[in-house]
Amino acid sequence: GFKMGIVGLPNVGKSTLFNALTKTAAAQAANFPFCTIEPNVGDVAVPDARLDTLAQIAGSKQIIPTRMTFVDIAGLVKGASKGEGLGNQFLANIRECDAIAHVLRCFEDKDVTHVEGRVDPIEDAITIEMELMFSDMESIEKRRANLVRKLKGGDKEAKLQDDLLARAQAALEEGKPARTVDIAPDEEKQWKMLQLLTQKPILYVCNVDEDQAGSGNALSDKVAAMAAEQGAAAVVISAKIEEEISQLEPEEAEMFLGELGLEEAGLDRLIRAGYALLKLETYFTVGPKEARAWTIKAGTQAPQAAGVIHGDFERGFIRAETIAYDDYVASKGESGARDAGKLRAEGKAYTVKDGDVLHFLFNT
Ligand code: GDP
Repeated sequence: GFKMGIVGLPNVGKSTLFNALTKTAAAQAANFPFCTIEPNVGDVAVPDARLDTLAQIAGSKQIIPTRMTFVDIAGLVKGASKGEGLGNQFLANIRECDAIAHVLRCFEDKDVTHVEGRVDPIEDAITIEMELMFSDMESIEKRRANLVRKLKGGDKEAKLQDDLLARAQAALEEGKPARTVDIAPDEEKQWKMLQLLTQKPILYVCNVDEDQAGSGNALSDKVAAMAAEQGAAAVVISAKIEEEISQLEPEEAEMFLGELGLEEAGLDRLIRAGYALLKLETYFTVGPKEARAWTIKAGTQAPQAAGVIHGDFERGFIRAETIAYDDYVASKGESGARDAGKLRAEGKAYTVKDGDVLHFLFNT
């Protein structure tokens, strides 16, 4: 599965947000009880209205959403890269994540202490980014030193790695995160394997006061501008509201959102933004027993998409019977789609599209 690390300075609302994410009725939906792997790791259902529509059409007994993992990474303070706070342990936690949700305090509240004694999300963002950059610089130096002998021996793999590390290092020395380095498509795989902290895509989460959850405020506007400049994503939420919503039943939650003039819960937007940031897509398997959503990277071909369900599906892949979501709905289900000529047989080279309803045929 895909993992999103929640980072931020102390007292910006990380735990509040994490609790809201993992305690909602939606998060615990379907037949997957909310599973606590560790106290700070939560598996969250990805909200998708299309799945409910499909289940309704097919009369599916169960609805099983796809899931995304969130990790509450506490303990980041100024000096973390030098071992302050939880220091290195915290940094190791980030290394394992696919992306970073960086919570920024955009709310004023005299009762909640700010570690730096002022509310300034841009400065906070820079503080954390600096720690991540320091940590990357240190690990690059160590790794390049370790590669010297192999390089002398003419090791090609080592040469490629060292070359990528050198490019990351050059960017960092200019004060830029590794994610700003231009990488050729054929270098992507090696590049990812470097696992640098500042390579990870960032989603800024502007935590605003309850009454500003809809429109944001001057501070969240600044963050949005910064995000746009960096090619990062940003969402505005109020962790406090999300926490309240997470205590409610779905119908109550909807009414509460309506009263606040909000169309959907901030958490739904957050999860969707995470999806977009990681270039993730969803396909569905639908039948009378269950309607289920599955997560793939955009651009995944049919056999690998099948492999998300089970390795055997990928190994023995024959073909995928495919109906686009809109066709499935318009034809009122599989047999209608078949009659209308909207059910296609797709082979190994087929690139699965977001919303595809798939049925895999495979050899065992
Ligand atoms: P963490 O240290 O980043 O995990 O922060 P917490 O989630 O523990 O929040 C720190 C404090 O800020 C708690 O007292 C929260 O109730 C409060 N807080 C979190 N979000 C908001 C918000 O949107 N508005 C206000 N006024 N307080 C908030």
